[in-house]
Amino acid sequence: MNSDLRHTTRISRRTALRSAAGLGALGALAAAGANAVAAPNDSGKSAIVIGTGFGGSVAALRLGEAGFRTTVFERGRRWTIRKDGNTFASTTAPDGRAAWFSDTVGLTSTLGIPVQRYPGLLDTVKGNGISSVYGVGVGGGSLAFGAFTAIPRKQDFRHVFPEVADYDSLAATYYPRALAMLNASPLPADIMAHPRYVGARSWAATVRRYGKEPVAFDYAIDWDIVRDELSGKATPSITIGELGFGVNSGAKNSTDHNYLPAAERTGNVTIKPMHEVFEIRPRSRRAGFIVKARVIDDQHRTVRIVTAEADHLFLGAGSFHTTRLLVEARARGTLPRLSTRIGDGFGANGDFLTARAGLTDDYGAIQGGPGFGRVYEDGMAGGPVSMVYHSTPLPSPLGKTLTTNLIQVHTDERGTVDYDHAGRAAVLNYPHPEGNVLDRRGAAFAEHFHQRAEARHGRVGGFPVYSRAAGFGSGSTYHGLGGVVINQAADQNGAVHGYDNLYVVDGAFAPGAVGLVNPSLTIAAMAERTMDRFVVTH
Ligand SMILES: Cc1cc2nc3c(=O)[nH]c(=O)nc-3n(C[C@H](O)[C@H](O)[C@H](O)COP(=O)(O)OP(=O)(O)OC[C@H]3O[C@@H](n4cnc5c(N)ncnc54)[C@H](O)[C@@H]3O)c2cc1C
Repeated sequence: MNSDLRHTTRISRRTALRSAAGLGALGALAAAGANAVAAPNDSGKSAIVIGTGFGGSVAALRLGEAGFRTTVFERGRRWTIRKDGNTFASTTAPDGRAAWFSDTVGLTSTLGIPVQRYPGLLDTVKGNGISSVYGVGVGGGSLAFGAFTAIPRKQDFRHVFPEVADYDSLAATYYPRALAMLNASPLPADIMAHPRYVGARSWAATVRRYGKEPVAFDYAIDWDIVRDELSGKATPSITIGELGFGVNSGAKNSTDHNYLPAAERTGNVTIKPMHEVFEIRPRSRRAGFIVKARVIDDQHRTVRIVTAEADHLFLGAGSFHTTRLLVEARARGTLPRLSTRIGDGFGANGDFLTARAGLTDDYGAIQGGPGFGRVYEDGMAGGPVSMVYHSTPLPSPLGKTLTTNLIQVHTDERGTVDYDHAGRAAVLNYPHPEGNVLDRRGAAFAEHFHQRAEARHGRVGGFPVYSRAAGFGSGSTYHGLGGVVINQAADQNGAVHGYDNLYVVDGAFAPGAVGLVNPSLTIAAMAERTMDRFVVTH
């Protein structure tokens, strides 16, 4: 075994006995490779990655390729697509597989239904003032995401990243590299022409009625499997709007389909599912870190504690959880030199979720997904705004006349991740109550769009819905970002201030937004950039 990375697995007898009820899960963990040791390389270089979302997956692959012996800790389980089409829960009949150890599950924070606790897909962090939803499992948020992989416009990117000068190199190199890895492409014309995609066609027509051309972008979808869904050869998933609880047909190109298997194929990367990191401290004699993780079972009991150490540590636990680990390490004194800026800059990407109901156009009671294109409006008083159509993930109770849209606006409103001494844990604080700038700009555009696209054309009857009480508006987000923000708590290369060899590769680096598009592609592209720079210098 490489001397730089020692796995000191400590299982107390008492813990093992206490966990006897979880022995089934223990066996499953062993079968999943939880104790596996990757083939040693000769380079003597070692790394740990925490988390397997977009940032963690990119880091794992690029480290493996560069010959770093890499351990990847992921607190969630591995999901392998089953032939019977029953890998994930469905939105019409959800169960515990849809939620991370929660008693309820829902696609928005307010529409929860009771389920059994399980290491399922969606983790809702209930903050003060906002709920932020994350994907959990090998693949992280890419398992849950709607597969929208869009590149922000230069002016919108520069608005949120004013000091990141090289948008052009991202556009020329890193966005295309990430899109190629995720095998992303636009909605093909033959699928858009299918009756199940009437919603996408109605949306395109609505945008044209509004006076704009929809801007097409890529989706991380295997469209051949979608064609199989439409012809009855694969389990209907994307074609019935099911994405948030996982895609049973296997058509979603989540990172467990591309980056992560490629990382494992290097022979240098070991992924450890059901390993929840809870402590980070520096090594005492030389550069590097010691990381402690709980091996958990499917009741969230600790089976044992694993300790690993390596020369370099890459944080990819997702914006809140990466920040939480650092905020807690600073408060507990294991990483006391971390910047006081850690925890700043949490934002919801300017997200404002709306429904449009009672429409005269036919959107389809069951809507093929994920969506089609984006409309930009640069003429709003509060600055540019964008909106995407999102196929409704449930059969519409209002027939064919309801659909969902996500508006994104620029706003400077930000929250913080702080250490709560009473609860001895990090908490999310978002001190911008209902009626904030984000709400006002989002609602203004929802009304404006409705007036121009529907009412002006005499198609009255439709109305926008953005009430928080119904789970819309800005009370919750799928796109929580920030906490270890570039040029504040970390440098342009992702190096976290205060400690050498510590890097942020996930959405925590983004200053609360990425610029009027969904964030995953920018996270992957920025991680590619960070890893390029790291590999060149190491
Ligand atoms: C329902 C839903 C739909 C979405 N749709 C889209 C979309 O269409 N397009 C888009 O661009 N974005 C979308 N997003 C957002 C997107 O998923 C995230 O922006 C993205 O996944 C963030 O990537 P990341 O690298 O920051 O980390 P994440 O993807 O959040 O991954 C972090 C990983 O770290 C793990 N982890 C956390 N804490 C620990 C710990 N202590 N120990 C070990 N492991 C840990 C988590 O389990 C997780 O697997 C969606 C999100 C959700 C929830």
